[in-house]
Amino acid sequence: MLSHFKIVLVETSHPGNIGGVARAMKNMGMSNLCLVNPKIFPSADATSRASGASDLLNSVEICPSLQNAIADCQLVLGASARDRTISWPELTARECAEKFVTAEQSKNKIALVFGRENSGLKNHELDICHYLLHIPCNPKFSSLNLATAVQVVCYELFVASGQKAESTIGDKNEIVLANAQQMELFYQHMQQTLLDIDFLHPEKSVSIMRRLRRIYNRISLDTKELDILRGILRFSQNHNNK
Ligand code: SAH
Repeated sequence: MLSHFKIVLVETSHPGNIGGVARAMKNMGMSNLCLVNPKIFPSADATSRASGASDLLNSVEICPSLQNAIADCQLVLGASARDRTISWPELTARECAEKFVTAEQSKNKIALVFGRENSGLKNHELDICHYLLHIPCNPKFSSLNLATAVQVVCYELFVASGQKAESTIGDKNEIVLANAQQMELFYQHMQQTLLDIDFLHPEKSVSIMRRLRRIYNRISLDTKELDILRGILRFSQNHNNK
């Protein structure tokens, strides 16, 4: 029930945390772990903290960048301890579990992205997330240890999967959401088109593109809808070149 989730750890500094995450995941019946540029891995610390979950460390996926790690995912959720100045759409860990542990969503690959121990996720990394995922806690001390944060999120998914297991069979909906790589190509295409028609100015393009990403991330485009939008972009570029 939870095999469509992938836990992605970005530039983890302490290998012990990687082991702690593997253990937390296996306790909750999850196995897809991906490391983006870990500072130290493999490591004896990771193996000893993983305890009986070193099989997850043996099958771990290691990626050179976050883009790479989420390329095959249709939905990307970024776990964040902090209030951000730009408000990305936010879900609590429980709301996330209720929304994404369903048979319909199990056709999509979903990445749960966790940040660095000392500085979390950067804004440009949150830009590729459809939602921010927050674990509610003491607002004056809201930063959990990385492996603890993964534990809480996986626990919520596990509980939700038990509740949903009976009730979600028989969904006939064939819609496939666009994955992160397809969305990234779409955003590049849109940015180029908006520059070509002089709607965007290079120096202002970052904040406008960030807002446009928020709009499109909010509505979870499927591949057919994305084809239509790319067709419109191609048409307006051709039209502009005439
Ligand atoms: N000092 C960092 C926090 C690092 S904790 C900062 O200021 O952002 C390491 C990671 O654990 C975070 O990037 C986040 O992915 C996750 N995490 C920690 N506490 C969390 C919380 N309350 N809600 C959601 N994710 C949390």
